[in-house]
Amino acid sequence: MNLSPAIRVALRGDLLDFTGTPAWGDVDPACVRWRADHGLLIEAGRIVGARPGDQPPGDDWRKHAYPGRLILPGFIDTHVHSPQLDVIASYGTELLDWLDTHTFPAESRYGDEGVAREGAVRFLDALLSHGTTSAVVFPTVHKVSVDRLFEAAQARGMRLVAGKVLMDRHAPPALCDDVEQAERDCTELIERWHGQGRLAYAVTVRFAPTSTPAQLAMAGRLCTRHPGVYMQTHLAENKAEVQWVRSLFPEARSYLDVYARNQLLNERSVFAHGIWLDDADRAALADAGAQIAHSPSSNLFLGSGLFDWRADLDAGVAVSLATDVGGGTSLSMLRTMAEAYKVQAMRGERLTAWVALHAATRGAAHALHLGDEIGSLEAGAAADVCVWDVAVGPVAVQRDRLAHSLHARLFAWMTLADDRNLVDAWVAGTRHT
Ligand SMILES: [Zn+2]
Repeated sequence: MNLSPAIRVALRGDLLDFTGTPAWGDVDPACVRWRADHGLLIEAGRIVGARPGDQPPGDDWRKHAYPGRLILPGFIDTHVHSPQLDVIASYGTELLDWLDTHTFPAESRYGDEGVAREGAVRFLDALLSHGTTSAVVFPTVHKVSVDRLFEAAQARGMRLVAGKVLMDRHAPPALCDDVEQAERDCTELIERWHGQGRLAYAVTVRFAPTSTPAQLAMAGRLCTRHPGVYMQTHLAENKAEVQWVRSLFPEARSYLDVYARNQLLNERSVFAHGIWLDDADRAALADAGAQIAHSPSSNLFLGSGLFDWRADLDAGVAVSLATDVGGGTSLSMLRTMAEAYKVQAMRGERLTAWVALHAATRGAAHALHLGDEIGSLEAGAAADVCVWDVAVGPVAVQRDRLAHSLHARLFAWMTLADDRNLVDAWVAGTRHT
């Protein structure tokens, strides 16, 4: 890792970002900003502009040439579990069994300070090595897992949203908190971390079944008492889970309504999955300005279902993309986009590279109300940018050579690329290699 601060840096390559939201199915939307052979100018960690490659800035700029390579905003993973790297690719279960069999034992280890520290470092370095510079993260129920994660993010200058997982029932005793202690811990963590540099706190309800009604009410109070904090949880991922929620909360109209009744549905809510929703749920999500973190590789791996992206789009719900490791099978947002395409193909729909890339950059940033800071190459934004090879290996190189349009190139990249294609990740103007 190279953390030496470079004050004025120019990155020369093919710049790609978005100036608006691409329409579904449009392979040539005007909001795709493609600037072939341009220098991206970075000063004191922020993007200050761009200029054609043949007009380089003066000698007081440190120049990095990436000829023929893509320069994009760093990806934003809106739902991922830091302790679950340890259980990625675990065989043979659906959601509820998978939690009991694989996930809860792995998360139990994060009460140990050393495990939490090493796990946080391993996790964030892995995100960066996959071209993800910002994330919305579940650590564990242990306060120490949150402290170590935020510390490691701060050391890397990353924009990170995270919070202590709330669980006070239907989980092993080592992973259960209670309402009073959890409220004290969350309050302390919010005061310590929320708004510190690039860090933000998220009230983190694992999912409705693992919190008592009293704890859900407490989580809602935290959101109300601390405006500006996020809220993250899981929603309607799997049919058995939806039925379980119905039996636990018979008074609620729907799974989403359990959260809405507890003041957990707002413009800073990030709901993972949201597969099994109805139109009333989608209208409520859109009204609140909440977002769905679509996690296709997880949904396929755990057999949870096929997300109806079009229905959310038509209802006005913001959709971002997420790996959901360890239910998901890769930290790569490119692999995630490729899986999202296949999920839509199973629904008879076509996901363009533009909609997918937008959801992983500008779309996620706007849904998080961070559009001025991340997700674009606009002047003023933080210089969180990644440099990519379009093609690695003979198959991808040949495919790239035969691509006749920008969309065809980028779609093949999205479908074939992974972390091997990453050349450099820059976080706030500092290169991490
Ligand atoms: Zn998850």
